[in-house]
Amino acid sequence: METLYFSPMLLGLNLMLASAIACTGLWYFARPYRGPGLWMSGAWTLILGILLFMGFMASGSKLLNILGNALQLAGEATLLLGVYRFLGLPPPWWTVPASAGAMSLALSWHWWRAPINSEYLIAIYATIGGLLPIQACQALLRAPGESELRGVRHFVAAALGGYALVTLARAGIGLHDGLLGIEHADVTRSFSYLLPYNFGIPLWVIALVGMALMTMRHILADSQRHAREAAASAERFERLMQVANAGMLVLREGRVVDANPMLERMLLWPRERLLGQPFGELFVSEARSDLQGLLASADGKPHDILAMRDDGSTFAAELSIERLADGQQQVAEIRDVSHHKALENQLRQLATLDPLTNALNRRAFQAQAERELARSARYGTPLSLAVLDLDHFKRINDQHGHAVGDLVLCRFSELCRQQARSTDLFARFGGEEFVFLLPNTEADAARHFLERLRENLQDLSLEVEGGVLRVSVSIGLVSVDTACGLAQLLERADRALYRAKANGRNRVECTQG
Ligand code: GH3
Ligand code: MG
Ligand code: MG
Repeated sequence: METLYFSPMLLGLNLMLASAIACTGLWYFARPYRGPGLWMSGAWTLILGILLFMGFMASGSKLLNILGNALQLAGEATLLLGVYRFLGLPPPWWTVPASAGAMSLALSWHWWRAPINSEYLIAIYATIGGLLPIQACQALLRAPGESELRGVRHFVAAALGGYALVTLARAGIGLHDGLLGIEHADVTRSFSYLLPYNFGIPLWVIALVGMALMTMRHILADSQRHAREAAASAERFERLMQVANAGMLVLREGRVVDANPMLERMLLWPRERLLGQPFGELFVSEARSDLQGLLASADGKPHDILAMRDDGSTFAAELSIERLADGQQQVAEIRDVSHHKALENQLRQLATLDPLTNALNRRAFQAQAERELARSARYGTPLSLAVLDLDHFKRINDQHGHAVGDLVLCRFSELCRQQARSTDLFARFGGEEFVFLLPNTEADAARHFLERLRENLQDLSLEVEGGVLRVSVSIGLVSVDTACGLAQLLERADRALYRAKANGRNRVECTQG
């Protein structure tokens, strides 16, 4: 009856049960941190072992005896593997089958070959159980890791070390008693119970508490580090926004929630007014429908767009939008590319226009004329082409100098452009020779237009040093309403021009295509 009032075995079992429940809670709340999962598995295996051993005590079943002992040692080994997992070291998995296997072998020998003194059996169990924590203890003291964890790691190492010492001492006593042939009739009154129950189990529980503290410290150190990193990253972002050479802003639900100083300068919007503004307000109204698509794709690619300043003036901009990691916000970058666009236009003009007269150059004319010819052929519309050559231009140069010659070229070009329609192509082919391509124009209309041009030039008086200069032009015209190549047209127009020169200059000669 006495054992009903106080059962050391039940106390030990309940302490282990409490530890297993605590380890389960630790595993659940510390996920996905590694280590507590093995502590939990080890603790429950150990309990299963104790229960089976209690089954043996009640039934005397040899199998339960072997299984109970083997599972207790396997549980202890598994639990200690968790320490390696926690430290990020490869766990020595072999310790689980080795410890359970060695104990099973000894007990099988005892039950089925030759009975072994129970003190020896206790010594074997305690030797295995005492050796297991020593390796884990070393790992805790030696393995590299965060400095914040050093204190608590030493604490766990001390508890495991104490447990190992007590258990190995128990092994020594078992060996001693075995050698002397002592076998205790009531083990509860021997060191078999005194050492494990009074010292071993408390130290084991302390080690488990230490492991829980170690996990919490680890999580805390991690979250502190993450918080520091997040703060540093936010500061970097803020700094980047400050120094960025482009306008930058953060958007949430299509509204501006943050903007950098460059954007304020670019748009002339004070920051207070920028914040909370719908994003579309920063651009001309025609661009706003495209913005929805850009915001939805947020692909980070630059798009040309017309941005609008606070005063309503606009400028060519390049806009790129990218989603932030949270998925709710986007970051947009706006670059003022108006000077690039102006440069682009300038370069395009340089490449297509004759620098003296601003008429198209030969290359640009040919490219555009080919398109007009193709269109005319496709739709069957008429088209006229004229070659114009100033008369006796060499004489003008000779009499008045090259500069006056240049001036004449400019004035002539100006006159031509004034009188032409916007769809007509006008080009300088070289020297004092020009070309007109008149789309959608029949021979009569073209002739009429060129005659008027010729007359206007003839009436033009250019004031030069020493009097008034008069200039005339000879024109060769060709009109077509069937598909015809550009070179062929130019050749025919040239022939007509030759006739105009031959027939006395200052006239329009026509060739039907
Ligand atoms: P025609 O009536 O038969 O056309 O006689 P022309 O003197 O106009 O023809 P010609 O081809 O003999 O002379 C053309 C002249 O144009 C020769 C050249 O010095 C001059 N010229 C060519 N390019 C330029 C230029 O860019 N500026 C000036 N000022 N003169 C040019
Ligand atoms: Mg000429
Ligand atoms: Mg000439």
